[in-house]
Amino acid sequence: MKIPDEKCPTKKCSRCGEDKYITEFYKHPNTPDHLMYWCKGCMATYQSMRKSSLPDKYREKNRIILTEEEKKERQKESAREWKKRNPEKVAEQNKQYREQHPEEVKEYQKEYYVRNKERLQEYKRGQYLKSITEKLNRLRESVD
Ligand SMILES: [Zn+2]
Repeated sequence: MKIPDEKCPTKKCSRCGEDKYITEFYKHPNTPDHLMYWCKGCMATYQSMRKSSLPDKYREKNRIILTEEEKKERQKESAREWKKRNPEKVAEQNKQYREQHPEEVKEYQKEYYVRNKERLQEYKRGQYLKSITEKLNRLRESVD
């Protein structure tokens, strides 16, 4: 390293603590001496460190987001599992809900009916045909 001379003042780098020529510091508009606190070498080290740690951080962030989604998915899954395992409790809950929210349920049923009118009518028609066919079959059987 060069010996500092009067023509070129030095500045102590606040990162590595070494006295370095001010030419070893980048300019900065908001510092008292208009120079960066860290020397160019330290800046480079810092930036390369940041760059190399960036993908990790990025991955970490993505991992956390994924984990959140996985968590939600897992919660949904366990709720589904619970419902499958406890049909009587689900029925009980539904019953309670209907008792506590009769207006909402009525509204929902109305909406459901409007949305599935055709399908429901078709279903009813199907049920009707089925019942008629069964009646006919019974009649035939009794005739035989
Ligand atoms: Zn330094």
